[in-house]
Amino acid sequence: MQRRWNGWGDPSVEMEIPEQGAAYLKEVLGEGRSQVDYPRWEFLKRIPKSRLPEHPLITTDPETRLSHSHGQSLPDWIGLRAGMLYRFPDGVAFPSSAEEVQSLLDFAEKQKIILIPYGGGTSVLGHLTVPEDRRPVLTVSLKRLNRMINLDERSLLATFEAGIIGPDLEAHLQSHGFTLGHYPQSFEYSSLGGWIATRSSGQYSTLYGRIDEQFQGGTVVAPGGKLVIPPFPASAAGPDLRHLILGSEGRLGFITEATMKIQPLARGEEEAVFGLFFPSWERGVAGMRKLFARRIPLLMARLSGARETSINLDFSGHERTVAFLRRYLPLRGVPNEEGCMCLLGFRGTDRLMKTLRKEVGTVLKEEKAVPLGKAMGESWKKYRFLMPYLRNTLWSMGYAVETVETAVIWSRVTETVEAMERAMANSLASFGEPVLTFSHLSSPYPTGSNIYTTALFKIASDGEETLERWRHLKKAVSEAIVASGGTISHQHGVGLDHKPWIEAEKGEKGTNIMAAACSVLDPDGRMNPGKLL
Ligand SMILES: Cc1cc2nc3c(=O)[nH]c(=O)nc-3n(C[C@H](O)[C@H](O)[C@H](O)COP(=O)(O)OP(=O)(O)OC[C@H]3O[C@@H](n4cnc5c(N)ncnc54)[C@H](O)[C@@H]3O)c2cc1C
Repeated sequence: MQRRWNGWGDPSVEMEIPEQGAAYLKEVLGEGRSQVDYPRWEFLKRIPKSRLPEHPLITTDPETRLSHSHGQSLPDWIGLRAGMLYRFPDGVAFPSSAEEVQSLLDFAEKQKIILIPYGGGTSVLGHLTVPEDRRPVLTVSLKRLNRMINLDERSLLATFEAGIIGPDLEAHLQSHGFTLGHYPQSFEYSSLGGWIATRSSGQYSTLYGRIDEQFQGGTVVAPGGKLVIPPFPASAAGPDLRHLILGSEGRLGFITEATMKIQPLARGEEEAVFGLFFPSWERGVAGMRKLFARRIPLLMARLSGARETSINLDFSGHERTVAFLRRYLPLRGVPNEEGCMCLLGFRGTDRLMKTLRKEVGTVLKEEKAVPLGKAMGESWKKYRFLMPYLRNTLWSMGYAVETVETAVIWSRVTETVEAMERAMANSLASFGEPVLTFSHLSSPYPTGSNIYTTALFKIASDGEETLERWRHLKKAVSEAIVASGGTISHQHGVGLDHKPWIEAEKGEKGTNIMAAACSVLDPDGRMNPGKLL
């Protein structure tokens, strides 16, 4: 599949910003100035000679080394767009089997080489950054480990090679009448191994479970040996080793195979997403809390804050419908300034959906929710994998986008959202730059919720200054998350960018335990060094 070399996604796909949206950005952030992109050929000229000896599975051509030298974090983008990417792997290997992965490990041991596992390259936290090291660096793309190995229909388990990407995995399963139902927004490019290694969460994880609940067992091929975890339905035999592999970020070895819990697609079942409005954020949070306390099996739930609601409407491009809503909602007790949009998804037969919707309606009536039918949900479904393409358009208009996420218990949700938005909004004061922030909850749980906050700010004419602006923003919001009692990541992982805050969360003993696990499977520290710990 074709990919933009310095941005997101398929180069033939463009997302437009409606006039109303562009005017809003100009008003809040000031006029953005588009910057000239650093040319690709300049990068290719700059890539140094490889330090690797020849190997039949390794390519050292500059184009492949450039395309595997980064992920999709904002510093990665700034590096690519402003010519500030300085380190490249010495080579990229494309093994086709676990045996070939093992042969690369043997080669790496002999030649004292660092290894970076590469899935789909969609990390947003610097997981794939090439470290500065005396040792040569080999990035190992797992994209050729892309087969379904076994489907056990009776046990509802499917085993895949871990380099398979989302669309291929779902195509295999759906052709047999099953689904994994794991849909991160990066679905079209990200891989099963990457999902496991970063503990990802998808848009329908509310129903199908996060990747940590779906991952049942698998194989890790590591410098220190092979770890095989069988798929027990449950076990009391000591700590669950699956949780060492989940979130291991390439530090423990290569996940070559994974056995996943799957779901049959029953006849007559449908997916539907309905829209509604709450009169205020407080009402919306109370509604979510009550719904999830009842454990009603929803496919998805997303509650936007008032600012995000207003931006969603301005950017929707449906001016007449939005004008109607802005007249209609106040008549139903939802003030335009405070109304919070909510999407709730269901999966099931018509009869089940009716029952669930009735149950949900009874709970949300207490919070004065105004139901609006399917139109907003249909629009969300249509654009759910296209929204990241807006980052390309916004960058060309002179605006950078960063997204930040955490999870926190219900009693701290609102204060954490406020603290995160405040921290980001003020973070660029020393540059005289405003920041636009807005948030939603999209993975509520019985005990709390994730919080997903987006920040937009102007790109400077100098790449170094844009990066400095990002550093200020990231530090301010990460400190606010830690001070509010939130986790440093609900879904994106740690990588390089969250590393300064990991010890605050795990404690010294906790990080020592993680480091000890690394030293068992990777005694020479050659697996993705510098990430996570
Ligand atoms: C536009 C966009 C939207 C996103 N939306 C979501 C979202 O909705 N939910 C979410 O959770 N995340 C999201 N992400 C983040 C990202 O997609 C996830 O972290 C994803 O799980 C990374 O998978 P990948 O295959 O691209 O891994 P990569 O980026 O290639 O690698 C990520 C890390 O995993 C390690 N790794 C990869 N494969 C293996 C393997 N087989 N064995 C050992 N280690 C491995 C790498 O070494 C690295 O440390 C999004 C990212 C983007 C750019």
